[in-house]
Amino acid sequence: MGEPVVVVGGGAAGLMAAGSAALRGARVILLEKTDELGKKLQIAGKGRCNLTNAGDREELIAGYAAGGRFLQSAFARFDNKALIDLLARLGVPTKVERGRRVFPVSDDARQVVRALTGWIEELGVEVRLNHPVGSLVAAGGSSRRIVGCLVKDRLLPGEKVILCTGGSSYPGTGSTGDGYRMAAELGHRITPLRPALVPLRSSAAWVKDVQGLALRNVRATLRVDDKELSSEFGEMLFTHFGVSGPIILTLSRSATDFWQSRPGEPLTLTIDLKPALTPEKLDLRLQRDFSKYSRKQLLNGLRDLLPKALIPVILLLTELDPTKPVHQVTREERRALGRIIKGVPLAITGSLPLAAAIVTAGGVDLKEVDPRTMESRLVKGLYLAGEVLDIDGYTGGYNLQAAFSTGWLAGRAAAD
Ligand SMILES: Cc1cc2nc3c(=O)[nH]c(=O)nc-3n(C[C@H](O)[C@H](O)[C@H](O)COP(=O)(O)OP(=O)(O)OC[C@H]3O[C@@H](n4cnc5c(N)ncnc54)[C@H](O)[C@@H]3O)c2cc1C
Repeated sequence: MGEPVVVVGGGAAGLMAAGSAALRGARVILLEKTDELGKKLQIAGKGRCNLTNAGDREELIAGYAAGGRFLQSAFARFDNKALIDLLARLGVPTKVERGRRVFPVSDDARQVVRALTGWIEELGVEVRLNHPVGSLVAAGGSSRRIVGCLVKDRLLPGEKVILCTGGSSYPGTGSTGDGYRMAAELGHRITPLRPALVPLRSSAAWVKDVQGLALRNVRATLRVDDKELSSEFGEMLFTHFGVSGPIILTLSRSATDFWQSRPGEPLTLTIDLKPALTPEKLDLRLQRDFSKYSRKQLLNGLRDLLPKALIPVILLLTELDPTKPVHQVTREERRALGRIIKGVPLAITGSLPLAAAIVTAGGVDLKEVDPRTMESRLVKGLYLAGEVLDIDGYTGGYNLQAAFSTGWLAGRAAAD
């Protein structure tokens, strides 16, 4: 047998690349830096692993803030349906939840890792754990080609190397951004790295008082001076430092983009707690509740409408005395209350760092990678897959699907 296909990194993309290359008959060596495969995969989706999204092709492509179009060829070869079919064959049936998010029926990410690991082992992939690749080695002048990689200063020869080292977030999982450096050393341009899908910090003192409170069916809108940057409907969460949860993570993508050009500039998040009600309907609802609770204090007059923990905050922001009897609330005060309920303002001062992000935005410039094969346009025999590329998706399973699809395509092309 000739030289092996060397896969660097045993995460979602690396496992898929190794399996796909081995399926095509290649001898495959998978080098993983840590003592375990798929560490990030195991914590994905809070340990339940939101594998992919069941949307159609166009919806899938629209699920990426960067790289959606680039993924078209990869999806043509291996899309969400192909992934779901493969996992079913490997004994991992899946189910579809809200927002077309796909999870294993077992709700257990470790089952996915076990299935993929078992699959590549059965296909004869040689897995080498605790093998950190230090750099990639290329030869030749103007038309360079890959000749192998250095592991602990020893050259492992390989005419085909698939770089699947992931992003820079959650470094405890092994994804410490090594691939960006290795690709840059071979001349690849790395677009600026920044957190995507990351919780946001707020300077408002009251968020600490409501930490742990989750809000469902709300609309959150991110604004700079009154101009809307982006808006999302769904679920969010208050934390001790600010806000998190699905819609906040999605909104964070436009926030971190904004801070690229205007670093440190504060943003405002407004939260519509009752998006299904017009201001008029909300006012009628307040009137009804206030006549029901007319003898109570304001603090208790809102308990049918708002989560208990949030009522003191809403009254604080409206500058209303919580002990005021409900029947003494004026029409103007009631309308002011309605305005706050339709737009709770929250000053956003920044995001958590890249290490705490779900995904890294930025990465190897897609212009330098052939979307039909994932081969580098600069170095022959070098393939790139997964988060190391300048691809990032919204929440909903898009990031894992990108890693699986690009991994599959790279493995196949490298084996051919
Ligand atoms: C908390 C959390 C939850 C998430 N949940 C979801 C979700 O539910 N759905 C979804 O779609 N996405 C989710 N993501 C994102 C998704 O997990 C990643 O986008 C995806 O894992 C990227 O796959 P990858 O193979 O490119 O990189 P990774 O999965 O990060 O794998 C990279 C691998 O390369 C190895 N490596 C790194 N450097 C070297 C080196 N020098 N030598 C050898 N090996 C090396 C690492 O140890 C690691 O094993 C989540 C991310 C996080 C952090």
